[in-house]
Amino acid sequence: MAPHVPGRWNDVVRAAGLVADDGAVRATVFAEMSALAARTGAINLGQGFPDVDGPAHVAEAAVAAIRAGRNQYPPGPGVPALRQAVAAHQGRHYGLDVDPETEVLVTVGATEALAAAVLALAGPGDEVVTLEPYYDSYAAVVAMAGATHVTVPLVRTDGAGYRLDAAAFRAAVGPRTRVVLLNTPHNPTGAVLDPAELEVVAAAAREHDVVVITDEVYEHLTYDDARHVPLATLPGMAERTLTVSSAGKTLSFTGWKVGWVTGPAALVDAVRAVKQYLTYVGSGPFQHAVADALTDDDGRTGAWMADLVASLERRRDLLCEGLVSAGFDVVVPQGTYFVVADGRPLGFDDGAELCARLPELAGVVGVPVSAFCRAGTPAAEEFRSAVRFTFVKQEDVLVEGVRRLGGMRPR
Ligand SMILES: *Cc1c(COP(=O)(O)O)cnc(C)c1O
Repeated sequence: MAPHVPGRWNDVVRAAGLVADDGAVRATVFAEMSALAARTGAINLGQGFPDVDGPAHVAEAAVAAIRAGRNQYPPGPGVPALRQAVAAHQGRHYGLDVDPETEVLVTVGATEALAAAVLALAGPGDEVVTLEPYYDSYAAVVAMAGATHVTVPLVRTDGAGYRLDAAAFRAAVGPRTRVVLLNTPHNPTGAVLDPAELEVVAAAAREHDVVVITDEVYEHLTYDDARHVPLATLPGMAERTLTVSSAGKTLSFTGWKVGWVTGPAALVDAVRAVKQYLTYVGSGPFQHAVADALTDDDGRTGAWMADLVASLERRRDLLCEGLVSAGFDVVVPQGTYFVVADGRPLGFDDGAELCARLPELAGVVGVPVSAFCRAGTPAAEEFRSAVRFTFVKQEDVLVEGVRRLGGMRPR
């Protein structure tokens, strides 16, 4: 008999839905679907990373930083130039007043910022509220903290896409709630929460004295008239909000893992207390390159970002129109890299089953939205037949993907 491997990882894999009926631990759906794509030669519209690099001059800045010998441990809170660039960015884009000395912490991607924040602020007996569907690391870090994960479903509306269920949100936040972990622009639905929705979150947080951690990694990737509003800009919220973002999505350098968290000094201190014993520091030379890029987001880098957004908007339309022609029921996203498409009109009630068969049916790979839900919740039911596709792939890849999907027959 295999030895029992003790520890909290057992809770983590259970929370992430990775324990099979026979007790074995499965790979994540993202790994499984990417392996399926590689094995079958299908077009991978599952995992959301760009297939074109970010701006060449920013890559050159990283090379220059390495050549200039910036290769030892950077300061624990992050290199000063990057902390200043992040603070200036928050001021310039959102009117937020952030002190680069005490209110910014550089992390190993947004992922580490989110993990360190949850570990710092929640523990056994505490509840952490998130939207559902949720980014997969949320359930895992809540389990690492030993806290309880409470979810609030996003609901589909007539004409306005997926929206916050305000009544459900108010009901979910209570005396045990320690943290709300919010994500807007939202992966996977592409919803961008509007000021009225944000005020529902803010009111509940103020009433119950809750800290809100906001995952804003898609802050610059919004389309049409949608604009990202940081929760910290709402009345009374700067003092109780930790705002998390990173360079990965904004600059198309997801492998650099340069992230940051901003907020009141006492909360940032709490996150740093944990972060310094997770990784201490990371991504030294890349921090310098990202500092240059953020400082230049109204210059050459800003022009590159504007082109990226315009191009992503076109690619979103290409994919959405193709999915509709193929027979999917599509909610057009307001932001992010992703679109959620419902396979029910094609005769598929189960998105996981559809994704397992898509390579054979169409030569395309997607990710079932059930991977972003907890089994048995109202959201899991609502999103049962939904599939997430990414449009952060080159146009010719999307054209071919759409052509293939168009050949699918309803069953
Ligand atoms: C990609 C992604 C992250 C991870 O960001 P990193 O900076 O790569 O760690 C976090 N949250 C959401 C919603 C994402 O889509």
